[in-house]
Amino acid sequence: MDARHDTANPESPGTNNSKKENIVGTPNKQLDAMIIGSGVAGLYQLHMLRNQGLNVRAYDAASGVGGTWYWNRYPGAKFDSESYIYQYLFSEELYKNWSWSSRFPGQPEIEQWMNYIADNLDLRKDVQLDTHIVSAHYNEDSKRWTVTTADNEVIDTRFLITCCGMLSAPMQDLFPGQDSFNGEIFHTARWPRKEVELEGKRVGVVGIGATGIQVIQTIAEKVGQLKVFVRTPQYVLPMNNPSYGEEDVKWYKSRFEELKDDLPHTFSGFEYEFEYVWADESPERRLEILEEAHADGSLKLWLGAFEELFFEEEASGEISEFVREKMRARLKDPKLCEMLIPTDYDFGSHRVPLESNYLEAYLRDNVEAIMVTDNPITRVVPEGLELADGTVYELDVIILATGFDAGTGALSRIDIRGRDNRSLKEDWERDIRTTMGLQVHGYPNMFTTATPLAPSAALCNMTTCLQQQTEWINDCIQYLRKHEFEFIEPSRELEDEWVAHHDETSGKTLISRTNSWYNGANVPGKPRRVLSYTAGVGTYREKCDESAASEYSGFVKA
Ligand SMILES: Cc1cc2nc3c(=O)[nH]c(=O)nc-3n(C[C@H](O)[C@H](O)[C@H](O)COP(=O)(O)OP(=O)(O)OC[C@H]3O[C@@H](n4cnc5c(N)ncnc54)[C@H](O)[C@@H]3O)c2cc1C
Repeated sequence: MDARHDTANPESPGTNNSKKENIVGTPNKQLDAMIIGSGVAGLYQLHMLRNQGLNVRAYDAASGVGGTWYWNRYPGAKFDSESYIYQYLFSEELYKNWSWSSRFPGQPEIEQWMNYIADNLDLRKDVQLDTHIVSAHYNEDSKRWTVTTADNEVIDTRFLITCCGMLSAPMQDLFPGQDSFNGEIFHTARWPRKEVELEGKRVGVVGIGATGIQVIQTIAEKVGQLKVFVRTPQYVLPMNNPSYGEEDVKWYKSRFEELKDDLPHTFSGFEYEFEYVWADESPERRLEILEEAHADGSLKLWLGAFEELFFEEEASGEISEFVREKMRARLKDPKLCEMLIPTDYDFGSHRVPLESNYLEAYLRDNVEAIMVTDNPITRVVPEGLELADGTVYELDVIILATGFDAGTGALSRIDIRGRDNRSLKEDWERDIRTTMGLQVHGYPNMFTTATPLAPSAALCNMTTCLQQQTEWINDCIQYLRKHEFEFIEPSRELEDEWVAHHDETSGKTLISRTNSWYNGANVPGKPRRVLSYTAGVGTYREKCDESAASEYSGFVKA
C-alpha cells in the first residue's frame, strides 16, 4: 500500500488530494456554527456550543471520533502525558466514570476513551464523519462562511471553528518513487485499521522522533530485520509505566478537584511545575534533583525540574550532558553512542520522547541504525530505499515516522479564504501569524484551536490547553450573541502586538535556535517561527482571560 492511500478513509485530511473541484454552490445546510474536527478540541467545542443553544455540527474526515487517537494506530502508539491529567476536567462525573489501565496507556484505550466521551455527551448525532472539508470562504456581504466538502456538500455557517489539530497533516509524500515500491509503505498517522503483518519481514523505519521511537521499540523483536534511518539523533527519557490497580485509580480520582485547580496554571498544563532555581542549588544537589526527576519516568525532567533548561546555556548544557550519560550507560557501544546521542543541540530544545527499551533495541542482532545525516535517502526504488551514495537497502515494508506539517498544515491544506478573498495558505506561506492562536486577522468569525502562537503539543498537555481554548471560543461566541454583534476579528494592530510578544518570548529560549518541527524546520520552505507559545500555559490563560474581561479589546466587532 502506498502511504498516500489510507485504507481507513481515502479522503484523509492532509493528503494534498483535494483535487476535486472546489465548487461553491447552493448550501445544503445552514448552521450557526460549524466545527472541523472531532478530536479532543472538536468534541468539547461541540458540547459547549450545543449547550448554548446553537445549531452546530462537527465534521471530520475520519471514520471515527478521536482525531489523533483515531489516526495514529501504529504499533506502540501511546500517551506521553499521564492518562489521568489528559482527561477533561469540566465534569467530575465524566472524569470519574472512566478508569485508566495504566499511567501511559496505548492508542486503543485512548480511542475508547474518546468514544466514551462522544457517547456520554450524546455527541454522535451532531458529528458527520467521513467528510473531508476542502474549502471555506467568507462572504463579506452576508458575514457568513460557505464551507465545501470533498463530496460537494455546501454548508453555510456563521461561525467556523477549526479543531483540526496541530499534529494532523502528515508529511508523507517525501521521496520520489514511493509509487514504485514493491512492498508496502505506511505513514504512522495513516496506519490502517486492519492488522499489518510485520512478522519476519525486512522493515525500514524512517524517522526517530517520538513516534519512530515508539514503533522501533515495539516491533524490533517481531520483525526479521529492522533498518532504522537516523537523521537527527534524539535525547530520550525512560518511561515508567505501571499498570493501575483499583487503589491507583481511586487515588487519582480523589485528586480531581486538586488537578482541576492546578493543571490550568502550570507552565505546561502537566502536573509538574519547575521547582528549583539552577543558581540556588549546589552541583551535588542539582545532580540529585536531576536523578530524581529522571527516575520519575515521565517528562518531569524536561517540564518540571529547572526552567533554566530553556533559557540558559550553562544549565541546559549540564542537563544535556546528564541525559547523554544516561544514554551512554545503556548503549555502551561507542559507535552506537556516536550515532544515537545528540551533541549538536541541547536536551529539551525540541520534543522529548519517552521510551521503553528503545535504546536496547539497537543492541539486537536484527536491528541496524543507518546514519543518513550526510548521506540522505534520495528515493524509493522497487526494492527499498536508496541513499545519496547509491546504496540500496532492500525492504518489504517502509514505515514513515516522518511527522507532520505542524500547526499550519491542517488549515493550509484547506482552501480558506477570508476578507478580500485572501488565502490563509498564502498568508502563512509568507508569515505565520495568529492572534493568541485563536483568530487570524482577515478571517472574521473564524476561530482556531491548536494553531501557532498558542501553547501546544509537548510544551503543553494538550487536553489542558484545548479545554481552555475551546472555552474561550465558547465564551466569545456567547458574548457576541448577547451583544448582537455580527462578527469579530482581531485588528491588525492587536495581531502585531501578539506576534511581537510571542517572538520576544520565544526568542529568549533555546528552542528558537534548534532546528525541528517546533519552528517549522522539518517542512521545506516553511517560514520559521517558534510555533508554540513559550511563556507558559498559565501565563497564556491569563492573557486570554484579560482579553475576554476587556470585552475583547483590540478585536473589531460589529
Ligand atoms: C502520536 C501522537 C501522540 C501524541 N501524544 C500526546 C500526549 O501524550 N500528550 C499530549 O498532550 N498531546 C499528544 N499529542 C498531541 C495530540 O495531537 C493532542 O493531544 C490532541 O489529541 C489534539 O486534539 P485536537 O482535537 O486538537 O486535534 P486532532 O486530534 O488532531 O483532531 C483533528 C481532527 O480534525 C480532522 N480534520 C483536519 N482537517 C480536516 C479536514 N480538512 N476535513 C475534515 N476533517 C479534518 C482530522 O481528521 C482529525 O480527526 C500526540 C500527537 C500524536 C500525533
